[in-house]
Amino acid sequence: MSIRDNLADIQSRIQQACQRAGRDPKEVRLVAVSKTKPAAMIEEAATAGQHLFGESYAQEFSAKFDHLETPVEWHFIGGLQTNKVKYLRGKVELIHSVDRLSLAEEIERQWAKIDQVVNVLIQLNLGAEDSKSGADEAELEELLRQVAALPHLRIRGLMALPPYLADPEEVRPFFRRLRQLAETMNSRHIPGVELNELSMGMSHDFEVAIEEGATLVRVGSAIFGARI
Ligand SMILES: *Cc1c(COP(=O)(O)O)cnc(C)c1O
Repeated sequence: MSIRDNLADIQSRIQQACQRAGRDPKEVRLVAVSKTKPAAMIEEAATAGQHLFGESYAQEFSAKFDHLETPVEWHFIGGLQTNKVKYLRGKVELIHSVDRLSLAEEIERQWAKIDQVVNVLIQLNLGAEDSKSGADEAELEELLRQVAALPHLRIRGLMALPPYLADPEEVRPFFRRLRQLAETMNSRHIPGVELNELSMGMSHDFEVAIEEGATLVRVGSAIFGARI
């Protein structure tokens, strides 16, 4: 199948998942994850109407950004070392992977230089043993308060990368947990914190994530093919 066909297929599955969950499909945005894929494939997807892309490696992203002719919206979704933040400055609309204060402070420093505000999500480690990135649930509220105090970041929601489990139904509790955490934090009325975005769900489990409230699904291989 072509990239265009894959996108159409995913969009229709998003619609169906929304229907099952009684949700408005406009609440769910598809982030096409193009890491390791060449700029030509991104152009192909953009031509087919996909305008939101996610990348995971800062330098690879920066190089592609400079090569792309079609204007698209970029999200950064991968683990981020503090010394790589500069490669993203001014180029991404949303960073999904803020999981510690030191990283947020470096984002603050970089975006202050260009006098712009960048949207961020707080990435959580939902007790998954094999995943090292993501803040712990116990430190979430404190981290939200600290990040909310930084003037060049705006917190939009939460992100999680649950373990890969062959049966997507087994991932459902992780998605549900992320939504519950967002609701709990929203009920605390922390100044500057309104968690409306939930970034969760990938190629093999995005439909379950949508049923559990995802507003951003990050889909790579189901659009662009397997990564080597
Ligand atoms: C690579 C990646 C994805 C996409 O994974 P697929 O299984 O190819 O859909 C989603 N989220 C993150 C954080 C990723 O690094």
